[in-house]
Amino acid sequence: MKGPLNSLIDLFFPKTCPGCGRVISSDNFLCKDCSKELIFIRPPLCPICGIPLEFGESHICGKCLIKPPFFKAARSCALYQGPLSKSISLFKYEGVTALARPLSLIMIRALSPFIEKANVDLILPVPLHIKRLRQRGFNQAMLLARQLGKGLGIPVNGFILKKVKETPPQVGLSQKKRLKNVKGSFKVFSKKEIEDKNILLVDDVFTTGTTVNECSKVLVEAGARGVFVITLARTYEGKR
Ligand SMILES: [Zn+2]
Ligand SMILES: [Zn+2]
Repeated sequence: MKGPLNSLIDLFFPKTCPGCGRVISSDNFLCKDCSKELIFIRPPLCPICGIPLEFGESHICGKCLIKPPFFKAARSCALYQGPLSKSISLFKYEGVTALARPLSLIMIRALSPFIEKANVDLILPVPLHIKRLRQRGFNQAMLLARQLGKGLGIPVNGFILKKVKETPPQVGLSQKKRLKNVKGSFKVFSKKEIEDKNILLVDDVFTTGTTVNECSKVLVEAGARGVFVITLARTYEGKR
C-alpha cells in the first residue's frame, strides 16, 4: 500500500515509463507493454563470456577457446535493445540517475544465481576517467554497483580500480582498435584490498568485452583471485 505522501508525489510528479514515456501507476519501472519487450539472456550461452548462442547446448564459444579472457565469467541481464536501451540512454546521458535502483533490481533478479556461485568478496565498478566523470557528473557503473552492493550485502569500492588514461569512446571502433584504445588505461590502487579476493566487476553495457577484459587483466595481475563480470545489457547481432 502506498502512503498518502507517496500518492501526493505521484499526483504532482507522475511516474513515466522510460521505455515509451507513458504515465504509469504500477511499481514496475517499465509499463506492461515495455516489460514484455525486455529480452532476458538465457541459455544456451558461452559459460565464459556469456554470449547468447543461437541453438544447441551451452558451450565455450570460439573466441573464448582461442583467447580465454582474464575474467572467469561474464553475464548480462538482458539484450541491449528496445525499452532497455532507452532506459540506459536516459540513465546515462540524460542524467535520470533515479533509474539506478530499478535497473539494479532487474540485474539482481536475473543474475543472483551467477553472483551467488561466484562467491564474491567485493564489488568494483568499471571506472570512468576523471575528465569524463566531471563532464557527466556521475559514473553510471558506480551508481549500479552501489545499488547492487546494497541489495546483495556485498561491499563496494570505487577507488581501487581507476582509469588513468583518457581514451576516445569505443563506439564504432573495430575490436583491434578497441584493444589498442584501452591498453594500459586502467590501474589498480591499493592492491592489498583485492589480494586473493573474488571481485564482481560491474558495468552498464557489454559490447565486445574489451573494456571489462582489460580491467580484469590489471585486477588479476594485482593479485585478485578471480574476476566475475556482470552488466545490465549486452549488444547482440545474432538472432534470438
Ligand atoms: Zn512503456
Ligand atoms: Zn565465449
